[in-house]
Amino acid sequence: MEPILKIENLKTSFMTSNGEVQAVRGVSFTVEKGEIVGLVGESGSGKSVTSMSILKLLADTARIKEGKILFEGEDLTQYSRAQMRKIRGGKISMIFQDPMSSLNPLIPVGKQVAEMIREHHREKSKEEIKKEVLELFARVRIPEPEKRYRSFPHEFSGGMRQRVMIAMALANRPDLLIADEPTTALDVTIQDQILKQLRELKKEYGTSIIFITHDLGVVAELCDRVVVLYGGLVMEEATIYDIFENPKHPYTLGLLASIPALDQDKSRRLKPIPGSPPDMTKPPQGCPFAPRCPYARVVCGRELPEMTEVAEDHRSRCWLLSPDAPDENNPFRKNGRAGEERRESHE
Ligand code: SF4
Repeated sequence: MEPILKIENLKTSFMTSNGEVQAVRGVSFTVEKGEIVGLVGESGSGKSVTSMSILKLLADTARIKEGKILFEGEDLTQYSRAQMRKIRGGKISMIFQDPMSSLNPLIPVGKQVAEMIREHHREKSKEEIKKEVLELFARVRIPEPEKRYRSFPHEFSGGMRQRVMIAMALANRPDLLIADEPTTALDVTIQDQILKQLRELKKEYGTSIIFITHDLGVVAELCDRVVVLYGGLVMEEATIYDIFENPKHPYTLGLLASIPALDQDKSRRLKPIPGSPPDMTKPPQGCPFAPRCPYARVVCGRELPEMTEVAEDHRSRCWLLSPDAPDENNPFRKNGRAGEERRESHE
């Protein structure tokens, strides 16, 4: 079966007074029908710009310079503004990190969700639409839907506002849902409830989801597959099992080493990745992670490694995976698996 979304060599830049910021420099990945794919990376890795490029919700200074975004076989980069308006909130929806900035503070939330349905279904009556909104509110567990229909955003807690955003995103039964850090501003109990709802969505409607986050703990709970981004490029792509059990990129190892574990010795400190992401006005010609990588070699600063197929459904971009890479100080050559031992050697 064809994937529902196929991104091929996407390059998106921002034209600023300081020059061209090459935020996304050739990203490729796919999302299958009913699959939840985690897009993971630090701020500035290109994950949000990739998702905004899919819906063409970019600032005026941005340009999609190259590549294809194939959604159900059609290239969205070639779509007009009017065609994109039909897709947004219809076949593809998005949930943002801060629901307050996405909701109109002057309009009751029920009306805002109703408007989303009316925009795509002019043939439906007012009563039909209201009934659907109330069902959606019940679906995302907003208590007393009839009363809450008339409430304003400021009358809701952060978690409840995010539920309204999920209801709005689901209003037209999208085939693809893009969730951009939707739980980052919420406390862990609410976060857990939102993740549960996204899982139910996938199960009930077969919705495909792109979940953008910097938190690998959340990814472990929710996703089927993970795409790790750094410096505007895909560094590693694997199933959820492989990314935790057999990571093949030093950046992924660094991210894993920074997750706290329940059974961890409390005296052991978490290990942040030293240094900061590259300046994307002058992206490095070699591996963008080289200045922060504990295993970097001369070739890393000189040439960008290609993506290497390391197993079925597992690809990684690192010179250490090359057949000619030396064994010495190579975390992927010690025992053929990248588990705890390797994470510790990274520390
Ligand atoms: Fe580190 Fe080199 Fe691999 Fe980049 S290519 S992650 S610098 S070892």
